[in-house]
Amino acid sequence: MRYQRPKGTADILPGTSETWQFVEQTARDLFARYRFDEIRTPMFENFEVFSRTSGDTSDIVTKEMYDFKDKGDRHLSLRPEGTAGVVRAFVENKLYGPETQKPYKVYYMGPMFRYERPQSGRQREFHQIGVEAFGSNAPELDVEVIALGMNLLSKLGLKHLRLALNTLGDQETRAAYRQALIDFLEPHFDELSDDSKVRLHKNPLRVLDSKDAHDQEIVADAPSILDFLTPDATTHFNQVKASLDALGIAYDVDATMVRGLDYYNHTIFEIMADSPALGEGYTTVLAGGRYNGLVEELGGPEMPGVGFGMGVERLVLLMQAEKVAVPNDHPLDVYVVGIGDETSIETLKLVQAIRRAGLTADRDYLGRKPKAQFKTANRLDAHYTLTIGDQELANQTANLKAMATGEEVSVPLADIYQDFQAVVAQKFTTK
Ligand code: ATP
Ligand code: MG
Repeated sequence: MRYQRPKGTADILPGTSETWQFVEQTARDLFARYRFDEIRTPMFENFEVFSRTSGDTSDIVTKEMYDFKDKGDRHLSLRPEGTAGVVRAFVENKLYGPETQKPYKVYYMGPMFRYERPQSGRQREFHQIGVEAFGSNAPELDVEVIALGMNLLSKLGLKHLRLALNTLGDQETRAAYRQALIDFLEPHFDELSDDSKVRLHKNPLRVLDSKDAHDQEIVADAPSILDFLTPDATTHFNQVKASLDALGIAYDVDATMVRGLDYYNHTIFEIMADSPALGEGYTTVLAGGRYNGLVEELGGPEMPGVGFGMGVERLVLLMQAEKVAVPNDHPLDVYVVGIGDETSIETLKLVQAIRRAGLTADRDYLGRKPKAQFKTANRLDAHYTLTIGDQELANQTANLKAMATGEEVSVPLADIYQDFQAVVAQKFTTK
């Protein structure tokens, strides 16, 4: 036990890390196209940053926080999600000021921590890639964020995506709906789960998000938030839907969706994928929404925001289930074969020269016989082998062989050291 990784964590090994790199690179490239810049915030924050923003009755704060006192008796928490830290940084660095372009658009990627029961696609250390855009109320910005999420998932090869959409309206909507929900739930009080009993008066919307089966039966008949939208909230939601229609992005309105964090208002959405890799039915990979008021909550001015967070573990499981082909960015260009101990220093100089020339190179370090070295070159799918034995060393040459054609030429070492790429270009017409 002592030397096993902590429960709910994972080692991402070569073979899988390529997929992660592909995901991260694809995301970076796409974010750049949408003109989002990267922000990096600490992996831990003061506990209040999360308790203020996620909400006192959210699962995250009540059950899932990795919080602790440090040696200076500060109450800290490993971050359970990305938005709170980004908003904290946005306020602390006064990014709301006139010096920055609005909307202020950033993205992040990195580990998040939640104390949860581990299962497929659910870990205690997991990773999110997310975006945030501050400073505009335009419904078109909500739609740009949604489109970016859809775009990213389809670029990564996911099919069978479903966009679920809802609105939580504005303050006034929430207040009216809150009361209606309390009125509806109170007669069922005794039947509710313990969590929901606590939440009924503190935050009745949370009851809608309960994972308890009997709670879910009760709330199935609850009033719909869509019947409580103010004219402003209705307009915003209609504009979001119209813009999605204009972009040809299909969606299902799910009036019972509330999301796990308290800070949302107006648009909320989840992008789900249908795959047996994560159990029956649709699983949410990417989720987000509008959080007007969050900047103020952390001491900033009134400044709207909208964003999403995507779970990378779930995404990777889905990509594997869909057998998405991940490009190999580092094929082996040259394997240098040394015959006899005397060539070892020369082969070391050769791999270094080839790497300096901008190609990938490797050699043997286990004193293997030439035959075994050639076998390795084949197994690693080397494009070329460069062979040097006693004779070649004496002549100051090496044999360069194109593995695809079997074509082989003798090349002066001096030429290789001067410009290996030029040697390849001269000796072989096809690379
Ligand atoms: P769930 O209802 O599945 O617990 P959530 O509402 O807690 O999800 P969010 O806080 O919205 O999730 O996080 C966004 C995304 O991050 C999720 O859609 C999911 O893909 C991923 N995610 C959340 N918690 C975990 C976890 N413990 N392990 C792996 N991925 C996670
Ligand atoms: Mg959760």
